[in-house]
Amino acid sequence: MTTVGILGGGQLARMLALAGAPLGLRFLVMDTVADACAGQFAPLLVGDYRDEAALAEFADRVDVATFDFENVPAESARWLAQRVPVFPGPDALGVAQDRLAEKSLFRALDIPVPDFADVPTRAALDAAVAQVGLPCILKTRRLGYDGKGQFRLKVPADLDRAWDALGAQAGSVGLIVEAFVPFERELSVVAVRGRDGDFRTWPITENWHVDGVLSASLAPAAVTPDLVEAAQAHARALAERLDYVGTFALELFLHDGRLLANEMAPRVHNSGHWTIEGAEISQFENHLRAVLGLPLGATTMRGHACMLNWVGAMPAHGPLLDAPGGHWHDYGKSPREGRKVGHATVRCDTAPILTETLERVGRELGRETQVAPVIARLREGRA
Ligand code: AMP
Repeated sequence: MTTVGILGGGQLARMLALAGAPLGLRFLVMDTVADACAGQFAPLLVGDYRDEAALAEFADRVDVATFDFENVPAESARWLAQRVPVFPGPDALGVAQDRLAEKSLFRALDIPVPDFADVPTRAALDAAVAQVGLPCILKTRRLGYDGKGQFRLKVPADLDRAWDALGAQAGSVGLIVEAFVPFERELSVVAVRGRDGDFRTWPITENWHVDGVLSASLAPAAVTPDLVEAAQAHARALAERLDYVGTFALELFLHDGRLLANEMAPRVHNSGHWTIEGAEISQFENHLRAVLGLPLGATTMRGHACMLNWVGAMPAHGPLLDAPGGHWHDYGKSPREGRKVGHATVRCDTAPILTETLERVGRELGRETQVAPVIARLREGRA
Protein backbone atom coordinates (compact mmCIF):
# COMPACT_ATOMS: atom_id res chain seq x y z
CA MET A 1 0.00 0.00 0.00
CA THR A 2 1.49 3.34 -1.09
CA THR A 3 0.86 6.49 0.94
CA VAL A 4 1.16 9.83 -0.80
CA GLY A 5 1.86 12.77 1.52
CA ILE A 6 0.43 16.14 0.53
CA LEU A 7 1.66 19.40 2.06
CA GLY A 8 -1.39 21.63 2.20
CA GLY A 9 -4.89 20.32 2.81
CA GLY A 10 -7.17 22.47 0.65
CA GLN A 11 -9.40 21.55 -2.25
CA LEU A 12 -6.45 20.57 -4.45
CA ALA A 13 -5.34 17.95 -1.91
CA ARG A 14 -8.94 16.85 -1.58
CA MET A 15 -9.29 16.34 -5.34
CA LEU A 16 -5.91 14.58 -5.47
CA ALA A 17 -7.11 12.16 -2.79
CA LEU A 18 -10.36 11.56 -4.67
CA ALA A 19 -8.42 10.88 -7.89
CA GLY A 20 -6.05 8.53 -6.06
CA ALA A 21 -8.72 6.30 -4.55
CA PRO A 22 -9.23 4.16 -7.69
CA LEU A 23 -5.45 3.72 -7.92
CA GLY A 24 -5.53 2.12 -4.47
CA LEU A 25 -3.54 4.94 -2.91
CA ARG A 26 -3.60 6.17 0.66
CA PHE A 27 -2.93 9.74 1.62
CA LEU A 28 -1.65 11.78 4.51
CA VAL A 29 -2.34 15.48 4.35
CA MET A 30 -0.48 18.10 6.38
CA ASP A 31 -1.96 21.53 7.02
CA THR A 32 -1.66 24.29 9.57
CA VAL A 33 -5.39 24.25 10.36
CA ALA A 34 -7.50 21.42 11.79
CA ASP A 35 -10.50 22.03 9.51
CA ALA A 36 -8.56 21.81 6.20
CA CYS A 37 -11.12 20.40 3.76
CA ALA A 38 -8.94 17.53 2.50
CA GLY A 39 -9.11 16.22 6.06
CA GLN A 40 -12.65 15.09 5.29
CA PHE A 41 -11.16 12.42 2.99
CA ALA A 42 -7.66 11.68 4.24
CA PRO A 43 -5.87 11.55 7.60
CA LEU A 44 -4.76 15.07 8.49
CA LEU A 45 -1.60 15.99 10.34
CA VAL A 46 -1.88 19.48 11.79
CA GLY A 47 1.43 21.30 12.05
CA ASP A 48 3.55 24.18 10.93
CA TYR A 49 5.56 23.56 7.73
CA ARG A 50 8.65 24.84 9.55
CA ASP A 51 8.24 22.48 12.50
CA GLU A 52 10.84 19.71 12.05
CA ALA A 53 9.08 17.36 14.47
CA ALA A 54 5.85 17.60 12.46
CA LEU A 55 7.75 17.23 9.17
CA ALA A 56 9.61 14.20 10.56
CA GLU A 57 6.33 12.52 11.50
CA PHE A 58 4.97 13.33 8.04
CA ALA A 59 8.09 11.86 6.37
CA ASP A 60 7.84 8.68 8.48
CA ARG A 61 4.28 8.04 7.42
CA VAL A 62 4.52 8.63 3.64
CA ASP A 63 6.28 7.01 0.66
CA VAL A 64 6.37 10.12 -1.49
CA ALA A 65 5.50 13.76 -0.87
CA THR A 66 3.91 16.45 -3.02
CA PHE A 67 2.12 19.79 -2.63
CA ASP A 68 -1.31 21.32 -2.74
CA PHE A 69 0.16 24.62 -1.59
CA GLU A 70 3.04 26.23 -3.47
CA ASN A 71 4.12 28.45 -0.61
CA VAL A 72 5.41 25.68 1.61
CA PRO A 73 8.87 27.06 2.52
CA ALA A 74 11.42 25.72 0.02
CA GLU A 75 13.74 24.94 2.99
CA SER A 76 11.06 22.66 4.44
CA ALA A 77 10.74 20.92 1.08
CA ARG A 78 14.54 20.51 1.00
CA TRP A 79 14.61 19.11 4.54
CA LEU A 80 11.88 16.66 3.59
CA ALA A 81 13.61 15.67 0.33
CA GLN A 82 16.53 14.30 2.34
CA ARG A 83 14.17 11.79 3.94
CA VAL A 84 11.54 10.97 1.30
CA PRO A 85 11.14 11.57 -2.47
CA VAL A 86 9.52 14.99 -3.04
CA PHE A 87 7.91 15.93 -6.39
CA PRO A 88 8.07 18.50 -7.82
CA GLY A 89 11.59 18.97 -6.45
CA PRO A 90 12.42 21.81 -4.01
CA ASP A 91 14.44 23.71 -6.64
CA ALA A 92 11.50 23.89 -9.05
CA LEU A 93 9.26 24.91 -6.16
CA GLY A 94 11.76 27.61 -5.13
CA VAL A 95 11.79 29.19 -8.61
CA ALA A 96 8.00 29.16 -8.93
CA GLN A 97 7.65 30.81 -5.50
CA ASP A 98 9.53 33.92 -6.57
CA ARG A 99 8.11 36.08 -9.37
CA LEU A 100 11.56 37.56 -10.07
CA ALA A 101 13.32 34.17 -10.37
CA GLU A 102 10.40 32.83 -12.39
CA LYS A 103 10.30 35.72 -14.87
CA SER A 104 14.10 35.66 -15.20
CA LEU A 105 13.89 31.96 -16.06
CA PHE A 106 11.13 32.60 -18.63
CA ARG A 107 13.41 35.17 -20.26
CA ALA A 108 16.39 32.83 -20.23
CA LEU A 109 14.23 30.25 -22.02
CA ASP A 110 13.07 32.80 -24.64
CA ILE A 111 9.54 32.71 -23.27
CA PRO A 112 8.22 36.27 -23.80
CA VAL A 113 7.22 38.13 -20.61
CA PRO A 114 5.86 41.60 -19.81
CA ASP A 115 8.79 43.92 -19.04
CA PHE A 116 9.66 43.70 -15.31
CA ALA A 117 12.12 45.04 -12.74
CA ASP A 118 13.13 44.20 -9.19
CA VAL A 119 12.07 46.79 -6.57
CA PRO A 120 14.18 46.45 -3.44
CA THR A 121 13.80 50.14 -2.38
CA ARG A 122 11.60 53.22 -2.91
CA ALA A 123 14.24 54.69 -5.24
CA ALA A 124 14.22 51.46 -7.23
CA LEU A 125 10.45 51.87 -7.69
CA ASP A 126 11.07 55.18 -9.54
CA ALA A 127 13.68 53.52 -11.74
CA ALA A 128 11.49 50.45 -12.34
CA VAL A 129 8.48 52.53 -13.38
CA ALA A 130 10.71 54.67 -15.62
CA GLN A 131 11.90 51.44 -17.25
CA VAL A 132 8.62 49.58 -17.78
CA GLY A 133 6.36 52.65 -18.10
CA LEU A 134 2.81 53.36 -16.86
CA PRO A 135 0.43 51.65 -16.44
CA CYS A 136 2.17 48.90 -14.49
CA ILE A 137 1.65 46.66 -11.47
CA LEU A 138 3.64 46.47 -8.26
CA LYS A 139 3.50 42.90 -6.93
CA THR A 140 5.01 41.03 -4.03
CA ARG A 141 7.68 38.62 -5.30
CA ARG A 142 6.59 35.88 -2.93
CA LEU A 143 3.39 34.75 -1.21
CA GLY A 144 0.99 36.57 -3.56
CA TYR A 145 -1.92 34.65 -5.07
CA ASP A 146 -5.31 35.34 -6.61
CA GLY A 147 -4.39 38.98 -7.20
CA LYS A 148 -3.42 39.54 -3.53
CA GLY A 149 -0.30 41.61 -2.84
CA GLN A 150 -0.73 43.70 -6.00
CA PHE A 151 -1.09 47.43 -6.64
CA ARG A 152 -1.92 48.91 -10.03
CA LEU A 153 -0.18 52.15 -10.97
CA LYS A 154 -1.76 54.37 -13.60
CA VAL A 155 -0.43 57.88 -12.94
CA PRO A 156 2.84 59.15 -11.34
CA ALA A 157 1.02 59.99 -8.07
CA ASP A 158 0.28 56.27 -7.68
CA LEU A 159 3.95 55.55 -6.90
CA ASP A 160 3.66 56.90 -3.35
CA ARG A 161 0.33 55.17 -2.81
CA ALA A 162 1.75 51.87 -4.08
CA TRP A 163 4.75 52.20 -1.77
CA ASP A 164 2.46 53.00 1.19
CA ALA A 165 0.50 49.84 0.43
CA LEU A 166 3.33 47.40 -0.23
CA GLY A 167 6.68 49.11 0.53
CA ALA A 168 6.90 47.54 4.00
CA GLN A 169 7.19 44.15 2.32
CA ALA A 170 10.22 45.06 0.18
CA GLY A 171 12.62 43.66 2.76
CA SER A 172 10.66 40.48 3.51
CA VAL A 173 8.85 38.93 0.53
CA GLY A 174 10.38 41.37 -1.99
CA LEU A 175 8.66 43.41 -4.70
CA ILE A 176 8.61 43.47 -8.49
CA VAL A 177 7.13 45.88 -11.03
CA GLU A 178 5.58 44.48 -14.20
CA ALA A 179 4.27 46.30 -17.25
CA PHE A 180 0.47 46.18 -17.42
CA VAL A 181 -0.60 44.05 -20.38
CA PRO A 182 -3.88 45.15 -22.02
CA PHE A 183 -4.45 41.53 -23.01
CA GLU A 184 -7.23 40.26 -25.27
CA ARG A 185 -7.40 36.91 -23.52
CA GLU A 186 -5.98 35.01 -20.57
CA LEU A 187 -4.94 31.47 -21.36
CA SER A 188 -3.29 28.66 -19.48
CA VAL A 189 -1.56 25.50 -20.43
CA VAL A 190 -1.76 22.72 -17.87
CA ALA A 191 0.98 20.16 -18.39
CA VAL A 192 2.43 17.10 -16.72
CA ARG A 193 5.90 15.56 -16.80
CA GLY A 194 6.69 12.07 -15.53
CA ARG A 195 9.76 10.88 -13.66
CA ASP A 196 10.99 9.40 -16.97
CA GLY A 197 10.62 12.75 -18.79
CA ASP A 198 7.37 11.85 -20.57
CA PHE A 199 5.66 15.21 -21.18
CA ARG A 200 2.02 15.95 -22.01
CA THR A 201 -0.30 18.94 -22.07
CA TRP A 202 -4.05 19.19 -21.84
CA PRO A 203 -5.77 21.38 -24.44
CA ILE A 204 -5.20 25.10 -23.90
CA THR A 205 -7.76 26.72 -21.60
CA GLU A 206 -9.16 30.25 -21.70
CA ASN A 207 -9.71 31.85 -18.30
CA TRP A 208 -11.72 34.78 -16.95
CA HIS A 209 -10.89 36.42 -13.63
CA VAL A 210 -13.01 38.65 -11.39
CA ASP A 211 -11.12 40.74 -8.82
CA GLY A 212 -7.99 38.65 -9.50
CA VAL A 213 -9.79 35.36 -8.75
CA LEU A 214 -10.54 32.79 -11.46
CA SER A 215 -14.22 32.89 -12.34
CA ALA A 216 -14.60 30.68 -15.42
CA SER A 217 -12.51 28.46 -17.70
CA LEU A 218 -13.27 27.15 -21.17
CA ALA A 219 -11.55 24.25 -22.91
CA PRO A 220 -10.48 23.84 -25.56
CA ALA A 221 -9.70 27.55 -26.03
CA ALA A 222 -10.45 28.77 -29.54
CA VAL A 223 -6.88 29.67 -30.53
CA THR A 224 -4.85 29.08 -33.65
CA PRO A 225 -2.66 25.98 -33.94
CA ASP A 226 0.52 28.09 -33.90
CA LEU A 227 -0.45 29.57 -30.53
CA VAL A 228 -1.20 26.09 -29.17
CA GLU A 229 2.19 24.95 -30.37
CA ALA A 230 3.95 27.96 -28.83
CA ALA A 231 2.19 27.49 -25.46
CA GLN A 232 3.09 23.81 -25.42
CA ALA A 233 6.69 24.52 -26.37
CA HIS A 234 7.00 27.09 -23.55
CA ALA A 235 5.59 24.62 -21.01
CA ARG A 236 7.91 21.86 -22.21
CA ALA A 237 10.99 24.11 -22.09
CA LEU A 238 10.14 25.10 -18.52
CA ALA A 239 9.47 21.54 -17.37
CA GLU A 240 12.70 20.27 -18.89
CA ARG A 241 14.85 23.08 -17.51
CA LEU A 242 13.42 22.55 -14.01
CA ASP A 243 13.49 18.73 -14.32
CA TYR A 244 9.91 19.10 -13.20
CA VAL A 245 7.88 16.05 -12.11
CA GLY A 246 4.11 16.35 -11.76
CA THR A 247 1.36 18.63 -13.04
CA PHE A 248 1.85 22.39 -13.37
CA ALA A 249 0.18 25.34 -15.06
CA LEU A 250 1.67 28.13 -17.11
CA GLU A 251 -0.55 31.24 -17.17
CA LEU A 252 -0.34 33.30 -20.34
CA PHE A 253 -1.68 36.56 -21.69
CA LEU A 254 -2.60 36.80 -25.37
CA HIS A 255 -1.80 40.30 -26.61
CA ASP A 256 -1.47 41.43 -30.23
CA GLY A 257 -1.35 37.82 -31.39
CA ARG A 258 1.55 37.04 -29.05
CA LEU A 259 1.74 34.99 -25.86
CA LEU A 260 3.32 36.55 -22.77
CA ALA A 261 3.97 34.41 -19.71
CA ASN A 262 2.47 35.66 -16.44
CA GLU A 263 3.32 32.95 -13.95
CA MET A 264 3.82 29.28 -13.34
CA ALA A 265 1.93 27.33 -10.66
CA PRO A 266 3.98 24.31 -9.50
CA ARG A 267 0.94 22.16 -8.74
CA VAL A 268 -2.42 21.10 -10.07
CA HIS A 269 -4.27 24.26 -11.02
CA ASN A 270 -7.75 25.73 -10.85
CA SER A 271 -7.78 26.21 -14.63
CA GLY A 272 -7.36 22.42 -14.97
CA HIS A 273 -10.31 21.39 -12.81
CA TRP A 274 -12.37 20.76 -15.95
CA THR A 275 -10.05 17.83 -16.77
CA ILE A 276 -11.83 15.69 -14.14
CA GLU A 277 -14.78 15.22 -16.46
CA GLY A 278 -13.51 16.84 -19.66
CA ALA A 279 -10.32 14.89 -20.32
CA GLU A 280 -9.52 11.23 -20.64
CA ILE A 281 -7.24 11.39 -17.58
CA SER A 282 -7.45 14.36 -15.21
CA GLN A 283 -4.68 16.67 -14.03
CA PHE A 284 -5.09 15.12 -10.55
CA GLU A 285 -4.68 11.49 -11.62
CA ASN A 286 -1.77 12.29 -13.92
CA HIS A 287 -0.06 14.26 -11.15
CA LEU A 288 -0.25 11.18 -8.92
CA ARG A 289 0.93 8.93 -11.74
CA ALA A 290 3.87 11.28 -12.34
CA VAL A 291 5.03 11.51 -8.72
CA LEU A 292 4.73 7.73 -8.32
CA GLY A 293 6.69 7.01 -11.50
CA LEU A 294 3.67 5.37 -13.18
CA PRO A 295 2.91 5.75 -16.91
CA LEU A 296 1.04 8.99 -17.69
CA GLY A 297 -2.48 8.79 -19.10
CA ALA A 298 -3.99 10.42 -22.18
CA THR A 299 -4.68 14.14 -21.82
CA THR A 300 -7.11 14.20 -24.74
CA MET A 301 -10.28 16.26 -24.50
CA ARG A 302 -13.72 14.72 -24.21
CA GLY A 303 -15.89 17.26 -26.05
CA HIS A 304 -16.05 20.83 -24.70
CA ALA A 305 -15.96 21.87 -21.08
CA CYS A 306 -16.61 24.99 -19.02
CA MET A 307 -15.69 25.27 -15.37
CA LEU A 308 -17.40 27.82 -13.13
CA ASN A 309 -15.83 28.68 -9.79
CA TRP A 310 -18.01 29.20 -6.75
CA VAL A 311 -16.43 31.96 -4.69
CA GLY A 312 -17.72 33.03 -1.26
CA ALA A 313 -20.69 30.65 -1.01
CA MET A 314 -22.13 27.72 -2.93
CA PRO A 315 -25.13 28.48 -5.17
CA ALA A 316 -28.14 26.14 -5.36
CA HIS A 317 -27.07 22.88 -6.96
CA GLY A 318 -30.41 22.02 -8.63
CA PRO A 319 -29.87 23.58 -12.08
CA LEU A 320 -26.42 22.07 -12.42
CA LEU A 321 -27.41 18.58 -11.31
CA ASP A 322 -30.34 18.79 -13.70
CA ALA A 323 -28.22 19.80 -16.71
CA PRO A 324 -26.89 17.12 -19.05
CA GLY A 325 -23.13 17.13 -18.61
CA GLY A 326 -23.35 19.10 -15.34
CA HIS A 327 -20.90 18.09 -12.58
CA TRP A 328 -20.88 19.46 -9.05
CA HIS A 329 -17.92 19.91 -6.72
CA ASP A 330 -18.52 21.15 -3.18
CA TYR A 331 -15.25 21.42 -1.27
CA GLY A 332 -16.95 21.09 2.12
CA LYS A 333 -15.74 24.52 3.25
CA SER A 334 -17.64 27.07 5.27
CA PRO A 335 -18.63 30.17 3.29
CA ARG A 336 -16.37 33.22 3.49
CA GLU A 337 -16.01 36.24 1.25
CA GLY A 338 -13.47 35.65 -1.52
CA ARG A 339 -12.96 31.99 -0.59
CA LYS A 340 -13.09 29.30 -3.29
CA VAL A 341 -15.73 26.95 -1.90
CA GLY A 342 -16.50 24.80 -4.93
CA HIS A 343 -16.87 24.64 -8.68
CA ALA A 344 -19.01 23.09 -11.37
CA THR A 345 -18.03 21.73 -14.74
CA VAL A 346 -20.38 21.48 -17.70
CA ARG A 347 -19.07 18.99 -20.25
CA CYS A 348 -20.87 18.53 -23.56
CA ASP A 349 -20.06 16.75 -26.79
CA THR A 350 -20.30 19.88 -28.92
CA ALA A 351 -19.78 23.62 -28.49
CA PRO A 352 -23.41 24.48 -29.44
CA ILE A 353 -24.78 22.13 -26.75
CA LEU A 354 -22.36 23.61 -24.22
CA THR A 355 -23.52 27.13 -25.17
CA GLU A 356 -27.18 26.26 -24.71
CA THR A 357 -26.54 24.46 -21.42
CA LEU A 358 -24.55 27.40 -20.04
CA GLU A 359 -27.29 29.83 -21.04
CA ARG A 360 -29.88 27.81 -19.17
CA VAL A 361 -27.74 27.12 -16.11
CA GLY A 362 -26.61 30.77 -15.93
CA ARG A 363 -30.21 31.97 -16.05
CA GLU A 364 -31.52 29.46 -13.51
CA LEU A 365 -28.68 30.19 -11.08
CA GLY A 366 -28.88 33.96 -11.57
CA ARG A 367 -25.24 33.78 -12.77
CA GLU A 368 -25.71 35.36 -16.20
CA THR A 369 -22.73 37.68 -15.68
CA GLN A 370 -20.41 34.80 -14.81
CA VAL A 371 -21.30 32.72 -17.90
CA ALA A 372 -21.63 35.67 -20.32
CA PRO A 373 -17.97 35.93 -21.47
CA VAL A 374 -17.79 32.17 -22.01
CA ILE A 375 -20.99 32.17 -24.06
CA ALA A 376 -19.74 35.13 -26.10
CA ARG A 377 -16.51 33.29 -26.88
CA LEU A 378 -18.35 30.09 -27.79
CA ARG A 379 -20.61 32.07 -30.14
CA GLU A 380 -17.60 33.76 -31.78
CA GLY A 381 -16.01 30.38 -32.32
CA ARG A 382 -19.19 29.10 -33.94
CA ALA A 383 -19.55 32.04 -36.33
P1 AMP B 1 -1.38 36.93 -10.77
O1 AMP B 1 -1.53 36.76 -9.28
O2 AMP B 1 -0.06 37.43 -11.19
O3 AMP B 1 -1.79 35.69 -11.54
O4 AMP B 1 -2.45 38.04 -11.20
C1 AMP B 1 -3.85 37.85 -11.03
C2 AMP B 1 -4.58 38.47 -12.22
O5 AMP B 1 -4.27 39.86 -12.33
C3 AMP B 1 -4.17 37.88 -13.57
O6 AMP B 1 -4.86 36.71 -13.85
C4 AMP B 1 -4.55 39.02 -14.49
O7 AMP B 1 -5.95 39.06 -14.72
C5 AMP B 1 -4.16 40.25 -13.71
N1 AMP B 1 -2.74 40.61 -14.02
C6 AMP B 1 -1.64 40.16 -13.39
N2 AMP B 1 -0.52 40.66 -13.96
C7 AMP B 1 -0.91 41.44 -14.97
C8 AMP B 1 -0.21 42.24 -15.95
N3 AMP B 1 1.12 42.33 -15.96
N4 AMP B 1 -0.98 42.91 -16.86
C9 AMP B 1 -2.33 42.84 -16.84
N5 AMP B 1 -3.04 42.11 -15.95
C10 AMP B 1 -2.35 41.42 -15.02
